[in-house]
Amino acid sequence: MNLASQIKAAAWREHLAGARDRALPEGARRHAFNQIDVDGPDEDPVKTLETVLGGAVPDHLAAELHSAHEGLAHAQSRAERRGRHLAALAARAGHATLAELVAAGGRDVHTTARLLETLATEGHQLHPCARTRLGWDRHDRERYDLEAARPIRIRLIADRAGVLERSGQDFRDHPMLRGLDLPDPVLPVHPWQLEHRILPGHRDLFDTGRLQVLDATVPAWPTAAIRTLAGHTAPGFLKLALGIHITSTRRDISPATALLGPRLSALLGALHRIGDNGTEHQHRIVTDVSGAWLPGSRDLTALARSPLTAIEPEGLVYVPATALTATSPVTGMSLAAEYARWSGDPDRWIRAYARRFAHPVLTKAEAGIGLEAHLQNSIIAMRGPDPVFPVSRDLGGARIHLPTLPWDLELPQGSPVNAASMDQVRSKVAYTLFQNHFAALVAVLERDLGLDGAAFWDDLADELNGRLSRAEREAYLAPRQPTKALLTMRLHPGKEIETPVDNPLARAHDHPTLDRHVKALASPASAWIYDPAGVRAHLEFLRDRLGHTVLYAMKACANPAVLAAAVAAADGIECASGGELAAARAAGARRLAFSGPAKTPADLAAAAACDVPVWMHAESVRELDALAAAGFAGPVALRVNRGRALPGTHQMAGAVTPFGIDESAVAAAVDRALGLGLDLVGFHLHAVSNCLEAEAYARHVRDSVEWSQGAARGRFDLRYVNVGGGLGSDPRGARIDVPALAEGLRGLATGGAELVFEPGRYAAAPAGWYVAEVVDLKTMRGQAFALVRGGTHHFRLPAAWGYSHPFRIVPGPRPGPVWSDVEVRVCGELCTPRDVLNGGQFVPSIAVGDRLVFADAGAYGWEISHDRFLAHPGPQQVVIG
Ligand SMILES: *Cc1c(COP(=O)(O)O)cnc(C)c1O
Repeated sequence: MNLASQIKAAAWREHLAGARDRALPEGARRHAFNQIDVDGPDEDPVKTLETVLGGAVPDHLAAELHSAHEGLAHAQSRAERRGRHLAALAARAGHATLAELVAAGGRDVHTTARLLETLATEGHQLHPCARTRLGWDRHDRERYDLEAARPIRIRLIADRAGVLERSGQDFRDHPMLRGLDLPDPVLPVHPWQLEHRILPGHRDLFDTGRLQVLDATVPAWPTAAIRTLAGHTAPGFLKLALGIHITSTRRDISPATALLGPRLSALLGALHRIGDNGTEHQHRIVTDVSGAWLPGSRDLTALARSPLTAIEPEGLVYVPATALTATSPVTGMSLAAEYARWSGDPDRWIRAYARRFAHPVLTKAEAGIGLEAHLQNSIIAMRGPDPVFPVSRDLGGARIHLPTLPWDLELPQGSPVNAASMDQVRSKVAYTLFQNHFAALVAVLERDLGLDGAAFWDDLADELNGRLSRAEREAYLAPRQPTKALLTMRLHPGKEIETPVDNPLARAHDHPTLDRHVKALASPASAWIYDPAGVRAHLEFLRDRLGHTVLYAMKACANPAVLAAAVAAADGIECASGGELAAARAAGARRLAFSGPAKTPADLAAAAACDVPVWMHAESVRELDALAAAGFAGPVALRVNRGRALPGTHQMAGAVTPFGIDESAVAAAVDRALGLGLDLVGFHLHAVSNCLEAEAYARHVRDSVEWSQGAARGRFDLRYVNVGGGLGSDPRGARIDVPALAEGLRGLATGGAELVFEPGRYAAAPAGWYVAEVVDLKTMRGQAFALVRGGTHHFRLPAAWGYSHPFRIVPGPRPGPVWSDVEVRVCGELCTPRDVLNGGQFVPSIAVGDRLVFADAGAYGWEISHDRFLAHPGPQQVVIG
C-alpha cells in the first residue's frame, strides 16, 4: 500500500474523526479487526490526512509523513534493483518461487534470514510512519537504512576508566567481536550515533581519555528494526541506540532496557520449560546476552543478542515473519502465499503456522510473560514448505506480571516491562499476536490465494476456546479488542490511545451454548438471554480484586435469575425504590442499601419494617426528618453531591443534578441527623456511570475517603464510605481495568470505615444478550435496512444513548435471497424513525430469518425499555444454565 492508502486504512481502523461512520474508502477490501487494504492513488499523505481530519495536520506530523513518503519512495527504488537480482537468481537455478530458492540452500541460515528480512520494504504494516527517518538525510538513508548496499561499520568505544555499566556477558565474548584485539571492555555504537550524538554530547569523556573511540570496526547489516544490526562476517545481532525518529519515536535505548535484556535472558532456561511439549516444534527464544550503558544517558547504550545459529537444529530456513507478508520479487505474491501454495493446502498451512505460535505464546502469558509477538519480533523455522518451530526475539517489549511469574525476578525501577495486572499481559499478546501478526498473514493469503479468512478465525477461536480459562476467554475472545491507535497517537504525541475494533475471534461474552439458545427461539424472535453464572463470576471477581464490600445495584438488571445469582455472589443488594426493596428481599438478600432521590413515606416505612439490615442513603434533609418520623433505626449515610466530575456517561455528582445533598449543606445535614438521633454512619458518594478509566476511578475513591474523614472529624465516628457504582462496561465492549483499579487503591487507609462499591453495569452488561430476528430487508435511496421483530421498545439503550450497538449474525435457514457485503441499518417494528438499534454496520451476508445478537447488552437493556408503546408482544426471556 502507498502512504495515502495507509493513512486511509489507519483512519478507518482507528475510527479517526469518525471514519467508520462514513463510506468505506474507494478501492478498499476488508480484513479482520477492522483492518482494510486500500488500492488508491499515491497522493500527498498530508493532504490525505487533512481530508480525513477535515482540518490541518500538525507540523510535527506533516514532517514525519513527508519523511516517510520520501523514505518509502527511495527505499522502493532500491529494493526493486535487489528484487530483479533475486528473480534472475531464481530463474537461473530453475526455481519458480523465492520460497523454493531459499529452501534449496546455498547460504547459511543467518545470511538467508537477513536477506529475507530486507524484503520488508514497507516496514511495520499498521504504521503510516513506518519509513519515517527524521534526523537522516538521503545520504544517511543510503548508508544506514534497510536497503544499504554495503555493510555498516559498527564503531567500538573502549571503556578506559570504567565509566560504563554492564549486565550479562562481556561484549568481547560475542561472536561478532571475537578475534579483535580489545584490552578494555567495549561498547559497540552505531557510526551515525557516534558522529551526531555521542561525540558532540559527551566531549569531556573522550577529551579526558576515559572513553576512547577505537579504530577496529564490526561490519554488520541493518535489520528491519534499523538500530538492530546483523553480523556480516560472524553471526549475531547488536542492538544500538540510534537517536533519530523512526516510526513514532526516537530510538535511543534506556539503561533499564540494557540492564534487563540479559537478566530476562537468564530466565530463559526456565522459560523454555514452559510449554515444552518435548517435540521439535518447541518455541525458541533469541536471547540478549550482553548489555552496556552510560548511567543517566539514553544515547550510549547497546545490547548484544545471540545468533540464530545458536538455536538447534540446523538445516532449516529461518524466515522472519515480516518477510512472509512482503512481496516476493520472484512471483509478485507474498512469501507466505508461496509457502502456503507450495504446501498444497493453504487452509491447513496457515492453521499449522498459527498453532505453532499461539500455544507457546499463550502458555507463557499464563505464566505471567506477555511476549511482544508481532511480526517484527517473530521468526519461523521452515523445513521445505512446512513451519517447524516458532522463534521469538527482543524481550524489551514484553510485559511481565511479577506476582504470576513462577520465579523471582527484579525489574528496574519504572520499567515498562512491569505489568500492573495480568490483563496487561494478555492485551499485549492479543494485540501483537492476533491483530498484528496473524491478521497480516491472513490478509495477504486472502488477497493472494483467496483464503477464507473468516473460517480461519472461527477455527482458531474454537481451538483456543478449548484451552482457555474464563479470564483468558474474556481477554482474547471478547467481541471487541482494543487496538493501538498508532496514527491517532501521532496526532497527540505522548499519549497512549486505543480504539476498540471488532474481534474475529469473538467468543468470550458469547456463552458456549449461546448459539443453541438463539437458534431455539420461536420465530420471529425478539428475546433477552441472560447468563446468571456470568453475573456471579463478575461480582466474585470484583470482591476478590477490590477486597472491599460489593453491593449489586439491581436496577442494572433485575431479571429474577440474575438477581438470585447476585444475592449469592455479592455482599448485598443496592435498591433504588420500594419495589426493588421488596424484590431483593424476596430473592433472599440479607443486606440491603436504599438510595433514590424521591422516596415516599411508604418506601421509608417499608425500609423501617424490613427484617434484614438496610443501609439508608438519605438524599435530603427532609428525608432525614421523614426517616425519624418513620422510626427508621438502621444505619444512615448522607448522599452528597460533591467533587469534580468523573469521566463517564451519566454525571450524578460534581455537577448540577437532583441527587444527594449539596456539599455546602452537609454540615447542617450532619447536625440534623445527629439531632434527630439517627444512627449516622458515613457518606454515599455515587458519582458517575460507565467510567472506563481505572486511574480516575481510583482517584475518586481515595478522594471520597479523604473527604469523608474530614467531614466526619470531631462530629461522629465514620464507619461507612460508599463510593457508588459506575465501574465501566461499555455496550461497545470496553471495560474498566479492575486489576489496575485495585493497584491504584493499594495501601488506602480507611481508618476502620467500611469501603463500599455498588456496581450494576459492570456485573450485568456482559451477561445479557438481546436477540432480534430479521423480518424484512430493503433499500432506501441506496441505504440498506434490516427490519427486525422487536426493536428499541425491547432494547432501548442504543436509542437512549444515541449509539450503534454492534451485533453478530446467527444465520437462519435462508431459503430466500441473501444480501452480501452490505452496510445495513438495523431498525425495529415501531412507527418512529428513532427505532434504530444500529445506524450502519457492515455485514458479509444477511437474509430474512437471520438472528442478530447484540452482546454486552445485559445492563440497562430491558429494564429501561418502553415495551407498551404500540402494543407489540414483549420479548421472550431466556435464562442460560
Ligand atoms: C445506578 C446506581 C448505581 C449503579 O451504577 P452502575 O453504573 O450500574 O455501576 C449505584 N449506585 C447508585 C446510587 C445508583 O443510582
